[in-house]
Amino acid sequence: MPAHAEPHIPIGRLDDGTPVYGPPGRLTAVDGQRRVRCHICGALLAHVSADHLTRHGLTPGSYRRRYGLPPGPSLTAPGVGHAPPTTPTPPSWLPRRRDRLPARPAVSLTR
Ligand SMILES: [Zn+2]
Repeated sequence: MPAHAEPHIPIGRLDDGTPVYGPPGRLTAVDGQRRVRCHICGALLAHVSADHLTRHGLTPGSYRRRYGLPPGPSLTAPGVGHAPPTTPTPPSWLPRRRDRLPARPAVSLTR
């Protein structure tokens, strides 16, 4: 049995006996607001994603209803920010076509 640095200890249980790892009605932000705790399994996540909730058999909507979370705020940790997780676009001053670059060094190393 692996030793966890931070064991997940449920703070309560639902009526059906399911352990609950977060207070009802809100997400618990930890790690400098950069992660939130999943109510279902206690995992610390930057974002309680739909993909994560699928593993618990829930959708974001049913997760919110089950744990009393309001529909408005996102399930993302407050400190993660709103930067989209997309690949950055290069600055416009960079040449877009790489075929302008020489294929090999202009300096010859042969003598
Ligand atoms: Zn979970």
